[in-house]
Amino acid sequence: MIFDMDGVLTNSKLPIGEEAARAVNGISVDFEVAIISGSKIEQMKAQLVPYIDKRILLLPNSGTKMFQFFGGDYNLMYGTAHFTKRLKKEIIEGFKLTRHELKIFENTEIYGEQIEDRGSQITFSALGQDAPYIRKIAFDPTNERRTRMLQELRKLPVAREVEFNLGGTTSIDATPLGLNKGKGVERLLDEYKFKPYEAFFIGDQLDKGGNDYPVAETGVPCFRVFGVPDTTYLCKYLGRTLSAFDYPEVR
Ligand SMILES: [Mg+2]
Repeated sequence: MIFDMDGVLTNSKLPIGEEAARAVNGISVDFEVAIISGSKIEQMKAQLVPYIDKRILLLPNSGTKMFQFFGGDYNLMYGTAHFTKRLKKEIIEGFKLTRHELKIFENTEIYGEQIEDRGSQITFSALGQDAPYIRKIAFDPTNERRTRMLQELRKLPVAREVEFNLGGTTSIDATPLGLNKGKGVERLLDEYKFKPYEAFFIGDQLDKGGNDYPVAETGVPCFRVFGVPDTTYLCKYLGRTLSAFDYPEVR
């Protein structure tokens, strides 16, 4: 069972709530659980530890890296992909250019850095890295503003080598071409010898252009949720439904 983090288990940049933690920990008793996110490992740990079960795998940077808990901390199990210096520069210029040209972010208060280099991912956060949650949810609830920026970004020459997708609540993620959550999920399944149909994915950005959309293309059955309460409800439902069947061992 693979969960997206922001908008699914946590509200953007906030620690996981008690109910969601209980739901995901409950699922991890019977299933292998992984949480995938566009965030860095430090950010994932800040939002999830110490509330989640240590058996749960963490996949930061859209799943280009995988961390497992042992020996008192989360350890990197695989993942190395990084951008070249040239690409980084072009991506950052692309963000700045489209931001400037579209003027959709003018007269908007910015909290902290708008562009963050996460190594194998560069993220544009429209309101800045430190924006309060309450401002973020009101900023682009229909994805309309970021979709306009996304369309412009995808017209740039750099888009031949880089993938742009909508991230969290106010962000756009740039990842190396072909390295998205879909590839992250495939790598994980490969590692554990699971077939796509033996897994589930739960995400909130499964529409075309969303950063969860590439997962839907892998053939892994996907559930779309509209926020954290939806996820806790779904976990309870799945727990009950699957335990009602004599569910076959998948490994
Ligand atoms: Mg999400």
